[in-house]
Amino acid sequence: MFNRAVALMDLPPGLEEKIRVCNATYTVRFGVRLRGQIQTFTGYRSVHSEHMEPVKGGIRYALGVNQDEVEALAALMTYKCALVEAPFGGSKGGLCLDPRQYEEYELEMITRRFAYELAKRDLIHPSQNVPAPDMGTGEREMSWIADQYARMNTTDINAKACVTGKPPHAGGIQGRTEATGRGVQYAIQEFFRHPSDKKKAGITGGLEGKTVVVQGLGNVGYHAAKFLSEEDGCKVIGIIERDGALVDPKGLNVEAVRNWIGKHGGVAGFADGKFVEDGSKVLEEECDILVPAALEGVINMGNAANIKAPLIVEAANGPVTAGADEILRDKGAVIIPDMYANAGGVTVSYFEWVKNLSHIRFGRMGRRQEEARHQLIVDELERLSAASEVGWELTPNFKEKYLRGAGELELVRSGLDDTMRTAYQACSKVWNERDDVTDLRTASYLVAIDKVATAYRAKGL
Ligand code: GLU
Repeated sequence: MFNRAVALMDLPPGLEEKIRVCNATYTVRFGVRLRGQIQTFTGYRSVHSEHMEPVKGGIRYALGVNQDEVEALAALMTYKCALVEAPFGGSKGGLCLDPRQYEEYELEMITRRFAYELAKRDLIHPSQNVPAPDMGTGEREMSWIADQYARMNTTDINAKACVTGKPPHAGGIQGRTEATGRGVQYAIQEFFRHPSDKKKAGITGGLEGKTVVVQGLGNVGYHAAKFLSEEDGCKVIGIIERDGALVDPKGLNVEAVRNWIGKHGGVAGFADGKFVEDGSKVLEEECDILVPAALEGVINMGNAANIKAPLIVEAANGPVTAGADEILRDKGAVIIPDMYANAGGVTVSYFEWVKNLSHIRFGRMGRRQEEARHQLIVDELERLSAASEVGWELTPNFKEKYLRGAGELELVRSGLDDTMRTAYQACSKVWNERDDVTDLRTASYLVAIDKVATAYRAKGL
């Protein structure tokens, strides 16, 4: 995919190669005494590009983690950050283990030991390398990592900025957990604001009533499906999970399905909809929007030709293989690529990092002052109304809504929405204006690689 894009750019060959390769990958094997014996774990932290520092990217816990995967995902982080103008290079980490096989206290021991190994080599560091959650990790792991770093760096006043995705009570930011799913929603909303792009996918009308199939109801898929159905009027007609899928043309209640999975470990037995044992078949269901939000490579040479959705939104990293991408492009499907579609996570990570470095929550200084100014206008309107002969009334709720100054969550959502809109507009422009660019993925690569190349040039490389 990278090669396809750079072929359309006029980069010096040396620079092209410099950007393509991963700068460094650190492999660590460490032992933890568990259940009476020493268990050895293998972990990685790969740094793809340091054109900006710190470098940024999640840490995943999964059995399939390997060096190639971590390096590919680190590269994706470079382009993702460039695209949404988060001032970071790209990195990624992973630990080979199935977190469901361990007790919470065991996971804490493993995580702290892994964090120690990375931190002592500056692979966790507020100004060098800032991890975040990814598959199999979340707020809990991030707060262990932050604490481990703080114990090792007792005088570092910026210690909290060594990792993002922490819970709000441990230096996190409001809206980080929902951020990637929220970003997927904002990405789709922005796509729907571009009539010429909708036309390319053969989609008409607004988001209301559009049918959606989501693969994976984890953090990203759940939030995306929840917001699309509850706020935009979409119908989630299919949910694919580990043990099978649910299909209901009337639309599934995302919240209820999520609660069911929480209690029963899968979707089987859920009261509404039809249970389909071979979940992957539901990827091929007729729908308007297909949102793969879990694993890599779920849409591949084996099933791409059968995918019917005209719009595919890559909420996961790398859900469509390069071969499948070509088949889908030939069929005329539009793919909103991972580099853009799931960049909401790292965008809000950026806000969290800034918050940690500035040591103050967003909105703390201005909120009441903003409210006081709004109060002035409302008082004046009411005075004018009382003085006027006709008399007029404010719309119910207007006062309440207008008077309320923005808190941290509102500011985070506003910053995220702005970021997603601006990045989409840059990609859509290239897609629409260049005859040699026929898909959004290539357009996104062009925008992102150009920014990375500009940063390298400015450094004299
Ligand atoms: N793991 C997420 C991603 O793949 C978030 C990375 C971050 O916030 O640094 O984009």
